[in-house]
Amino acid sequence: PSTSISDYERLSVLGHGNGGTVYTARHRRSSANPPVVALKIFAAAGDPSAAREAEILALASDAPHVVRLHAVVPSAGEAPAALALELMPGGSLAGLLRRLGRPMGERPIAAVARQALLGLDALHALRVVHRDLKPSNLLLGAAGEVKIADFGAGKVLRRRLDPCASYVGTAAYMSPERFDPEAYAGDYDPYAADVWSLGVAILELYLGHFPLLPEGQRPDWAALMCAICFGEAPEPPAAASEEFRDFVARCLEKKAGRRASVAELLDHPFVAERDAADARQALAALVAQADDL
Ligand code: ATP
Ligand code: MG
Repeated sequence: PSTSISDYERLSVLGHGNGGTVYTARHRRSSANPPVVALKIFAAAGDPSAAREAEILALASDAPHVVRLHAVVPSAGEAPAALALELMPGGSLAGLLRRLGRPMGERPIAAVARQALLGLDALHALRVVHRDLKPSNLLLGAAGEVKIADFGAGKVLRRRLDPCASYVGTAAYMSPERFDPEAYAGDYDPYAADVWSLGVAILELYLGHFPLLPEGQRPDWAALMCAICFGEAPEPPAAASEEFRDFVARCLEKKAGRRASVAELLDHPFVAERDAADARQALAALVAQADDL
């Protein structure tokens, strides 16, 4: 059955992005399943990132730890007008950090890291690179589930080492070899760029602010270029556990060829499976706490 925007009643705004606005929306047909979705409405008709996101989610949204696509709402032209997505009640990790107003501890961060890695593992197995991993694109369930969202910058590679260094995604979380492909020529692995971004995001959750620049500094192009390409990789403070410090260091290896792979990181003690249930509970507790604020 074909869907249209008018099939949905918009209830509230969940978030704004570059591409458009995401609403909670109820399907007007009472038997619709699920009754309430996150409706991502693209601002521009024919937005190429909308077509890309629909294509990638059609391929990958059955994967665990990837946000589920329920319906593509077509526009008159080629690109979709909107996507009906699984509603993630905890919002994004950027939102959680903002609402908490303080950094997160290692245990809930381990739950984020482990589930994001599982999501990346599934995506990379499908030859999908995300290219825009950051706290605002990691979404939370009420029980501490984490799912990867926002595939507007993603790409399906035709070959394993398909070059895809083209400039998409948010510069702040971009790996050195993507930021400056010429300086890092010969050191290129499209999947490793997602690992760098995850490392920056994880460290941001621990510090409570973007880790590559001094707190409060505007992330303009020149400052980011200096920090990402010419600076030392940032590290957690000495007070952090040895496991956490090592995990972050393995993600933020400046040379892509030396950076840990997703599979290696899934074996890292910081995200050990035996602690996964505990870690998720700690994350769920934070989500509940932020709800009450
Ligand atoms: P940007 O360009 O800023 O990365 P975008 O326009 O591509 O954003 P999204 O990242 O998909 O849009 O969504 C914007 C925000 O809306 C998210 O950061 C999140 O807060 C909220 N959001 C998106 N999808 C969902 C969802 N399925 N459930 C709950 N909240 C969501
Ligand atoms: Mg986003």
